[in-house]
Amino acid sequence: MSQGGKKRVLILFCGGTIIMKEGRDGTLVAPSRKEAVANLRAIEARLATIADFDIRFVENIDSANMTPSDWDRILAELEAGYDAWDGFVITHGTDTMAYTAAALTLAIKNLGKPVVLTGSQIPGSRLETDARRNLVNAMKLATMDVSGVFIVFDERVIHGGRASKASESRLDAFTSVNAQDAGEIRAEIRLSPALPRRRFDKAAFYPGFEPDIVVRTLTPGCDPGDLVFLLQHKRVQGILIEAYGTGNLPYDFDGLFRAARDQKVPVVVTSQCLHGVTRMQGYEVGARALKLGAIEGHDQSLEMLAVKLMWALKHYPYKDIRTVMQTSFAGELSIPVA
Ligand code: ASP
Repeated sequence: MSQGGKKRVLILFCGGTIIMKEGRDGTLVAPSRKEAVANLRAIEARLATIADFDIRFVENIDSANMTPSDWDRILAELEAGYDAWDGFVITHGTDTMAYTAAALTLAIKNLGKPVVLTGSQIPGSRLETDARRNLVNAMKLATMDVSGVFIVFDERVIHGGRASKASESRLDAFTSVNAQDAGEIRAEIRLSPALPRRRFDKAAFYPGFEPDIVVRTLTPGCDPGDLVFLLQHKRVQGILIEAYGTGNLPYDFDGLFRAARDQKVPVVVTSQCLHGVTRMQGYEVGARALKLGAIEGHDQSLEMLAVKLMWALKHYPYKDIRTVMQTSFAGELSIPVA
């Protein structure tokens, strides 16, 4: 680790549009590993003026192909390099970047350094790319006096536990869900004064996620029978329902809650509203689901709830999952839960 001089930053290379090239049919594809790392280096030749850095290859994929075992690999790299580096940048596709950010937010305790995810909407090789700016700002954030998992994109610094991809093509691709941004990127990076500073704590890593969950968005008249079928055939370990408004579900979901409780499968309920926060006691249709065992998602993002459910299923017994889902580990939940 640096002693007051230039900071040392490890870049974990995970693929994404930032290094992609156009294939023969016009689609964007990940090039060979060698070409991909060369593409990343070519984005900005002066990165070393920000920090001494090295690039560690983790994988070279479209992030649509990311799985929880890839999150574990990223966590293993962070753990292995934790003492030697002052900060980390993860270059990653934008499609599932918010899920990876949620996973790292939950799985690292006592994080005392910045871990910054970034990528781009336009490949780094194109003239009009947003890659250069995002990469440079991510590197700068990784050297700053702050700790936590963040996404740096366009003019925003977003808390890793609150991020969601809000646009498939805007350069301002990410938004903070039910929270303020952690900072803004102007001529300089301005961070919220409330963010935790760097610390010398020993970080602890808790990888492991159960991928076998189902996320179901309610539509009027939808049949809860397909979820009951999955339960009966033991094909699912956890269920996340995007319900209406404040967390309201039709009466015919009662049977699903009963079946899930019998089989000790947690059912989390969130709101399908864009900026939705659950208040399931507000209507009889929500309160009824709560009585039958629904776990309220409160103001957490869909990405966070899905990843937290996967993480909780791997690390805690059924009886503790409600408490885990309703605990804020790193600011991803702001409503005090009774
Ligand atoms: N499909 C790409 C990915 O997530 C999109 C991007 O990187 O912007 O890898």
